[in-house]
Amino acid sequence: MAFFIIIERPWKRIFPWPFLFPFQNKNLESKGGRNFMTTKILKPVELTPNFFQLGTHAFPTYLSIGEEGMIIEGGTGPTFQIMIDQIKYLGINIKRIRYIILTHTHPDHIGAIPHFQYHYPHIKLLTHPIGAKNLGKKELFKQFLLVDLGIAQLMKAKGEIESLPESTKEYYFNVDSVVQEGDQIDLGSGIIWKIYETPGHSPCHISLFEEKEKTLIIGDATGFYVPERDIFWPNYFESLYKYCESIRKLNTLTAKRAALSHNGVIEGNIKIHLEKALKATEKYHYELMERLNRGEIPEKIALEKARFVESLTDIQPFKVMYDLCELMIKNSLAHRDNSIFNV
Ligand SMILES: [Zn+2]
Ligand SMILES: [Zn+2]
Repeated sequence: MAFFIIIERPWKRIFPWPFLFPFQNKNLESKGGRNFMTTKILKPVELTPNFFQLGTHAFPTYLSIGEEGMIIEGGTGPTFQIMIDQIKYLGINIKRIRYIILTHTHPDHIGAIPHFQYHYPHIKLLTHPIGAKNLGKKELFKQFLLVDLGIAQLMKAKGEIESLPESTKEYYFNVDSVVQEGDQIDLGSGIIWKIYETPGHSPCHISLFEEKEKTLIIGDATGFYVPERDIFWPNYFESLYKYCESIRKLNTLTAKRAALSHNGVIEGNIKIHLEKALKATEKYHYELMERLNRGEIPEKIALEKARFVESLTDIQPFKVMYDLCELMIKNSLAHRDNSIFNV
């Protein structure tokens, strides 16, 4: 990953994505062109007749179809064209898609939005009010673009795309409506999504539940989970307390499947997943506390934890993982009495 340039930046506190990538020099217009190619056609996954997984396994997005359609998750620049190809493959007219809703506004989950807004302006963007505020901060756009480019470079290096996505002529996020706890989005044909605020991973994080098919959109609220290995990397980047409370809140729902912001969908008894997520978080926190109490220095612990994360995934550079591990040590220290697990 030698092509990543790490420098310090002032917005570290706002978004825990503390790195910059080298700029892509070209700023090409992609008017209707979108002529970056995927190496192979990635087939969408039909989870139910009304619910599909789009994008890639590492960066999935979802499509819910009632009478109208809604895309869930903001994707990435390099997965935008993959999503469009997949929607076409499904035979769904994109005009039928009315909304795109964000689980949260971390830069690895919003990259396709400017492409959608430029090419398909009829699709309304929905997000939590805190997310809307983040997306209105033009000073963050450079960082958004650089994170997105980093993801594209990694995907290209792995052969998942043939060339880097072109920039849109204009780069903006026009939020059409904000959604909060208890709001509902009715897509027709009995498909109604209910919004649950699930902060802790990020302040703007929401989850969604659809009662008819019992599908839960978890987002990043249970952290980075690798289904193939049944391993969690807890992700309480905002607050350990809120993160645990959000998982407990989701555990009051009876879901049959859960869609994650990374690594796809879990089918079956979702309560088991949520309980495991909470246990994994408790274990992670206790280990940090024990090691700090023994006198180990935070930097050494963060380095070891980042190596553990590196063994799970390569979707972000090592320095990002290290800084996030360090951030969680700080968030654990805010709850050193462990009382949040004694409920
Ligand atoms: Zn996130
Ligand atoms: Zn994520």
